[in-house]
Amino acid sequence: MTGFLDFSYESRPGRVVLRPGAAVSATPGEAEHLGLRRLLVVCGARGADTARAVAKALGPACAGLHDGARMHVPVEAADRAVEAARAAGADGCVAVGGGSSIGLGKAIALRTGLPLIAVPSTYSGSEMTDVWGLTEHGAKRTGRDPKVLPRSVVYDPELTLSLPVPLSVTSGVNAIAHAVEALYAPDTSPLVALMAEEGVRAMARALPELAAEPASLAARGRALYGAWLCGSCLGATTMGLHHKLCHVLGGTFGLPHAETHTVVLPYALAHNAPAAPDAAATVARALDADDAPTALWELAGRLGAPRSLAELGLTEADLVTAAAQAAGQAYANPRPVTADGVLTLLRAAYDGVPPTAALQ
Ligand code: NAD
Repeated sequence: MTGFLDFSYESRPGRVVLRPGAAVSATPGEAEHLGLRRLLVVCGARGADTARAVAKALGPACAGLHDGARMHVPVEAADRAVEAARAAGADGCVAVGGGSSIGLGKAIALRTGLPLIAVPSTYSGSEMTDVWGLTEHGAKRTGRDPKVLPRSVVYDPELTLSLPVPLSVTSGVNAIAHAVEALYAPDTSPLVALMAEEGVRAMARALPELAAEPASLAARGRALYGAWLCGSCLGATTMGLHHKLCHVLGGTFGLPHAETHTVVLPYALAHNAPAAPDAAATVARALDADDAPTALWELAGRLGAPRSLAELGLTEADLVTAAAQAAGQAYANPRPVTADGVLTLLRAAYDGVPPTAALQ
């Protein structure tokens, strides 16, 4: 770090528990700590078994289970969940699952003000942010509201044992993307930089370990530790070009969330690195590498993750539209965002070529 320090940082309220078995062993205690006695448990169809175990552990403090979580929180799903919470007379909500389940819990919190406990089963990081999202008529609206920030987060490595390795890898790189963009965010700070570097390091080390031994609770726990740090970075800062681009590729072209982050991140970082050399150096140090974009690209390749937008189903004709959409919005980014610049980035990501050689 060089020059004058100039930052502001708001510490977030909320408790975090991480240990194997915590979903069942710690959630009731967290509810009690918050003074909650009638919790609605929400989940997606796939996570219903775990959610049922959490509901059972809550005993009389469980007011019902609602398995209506869907990708990107359609507004109809939010309406039904709010109805379920009201009908059950809930005084709080427990969201069990990935970003989609936590997103549904946040939608309930946004509309009703009910406190939320998050029990994440992926590395999306949503549990550490006050950002909500709702999709209506194909368009996703997002916003920030302190009401939706979970009061308590219960990380349980056992919950992630069922997360298939390919999804674990892409979800893990999705987390790394939060830390990378936090390092060059306009509202970054020394504490965020520490969390980001350690988050990238922890996740990048855990992913090969869990890919080699998917049943390793130790590796799964370290990945969740990385997800917590990276999610904290996401909650504390404003994201740049990488996240906007992934939002466009997911929203307009229906590309899958975590896979898209995994493909785009090396290219977004290679594009931004000349304007954010300290951030790129920090990521390189965390990855124990000379060049951060190359190291991220190689990590994805070694772990068998997709590395090109073509593999995800984007067509070459979509690139110009995607570049125009990503460049047509106003947001902070270390390098000025132009349609030509984004198009060059997207072409390289479409082909899946080595990022630094293509973009610098
Ligand atoms: P997700 O919740 O849709 O989960 C992805 C897939 O994994 C789903 O099919 C789900 O059923 C399955 N899954 C989840 N946990 C599993 C487990 N343990 N075992 C087996 N399968 C499991 O997606 P996600 O990647 O967790 O989150 C992405 C969503 O979250 C997006 O909608 C994104 O916009 C949102 N998000 C929001 C924020 C925020 O701050 N608001 C932050 C990050 C992501």
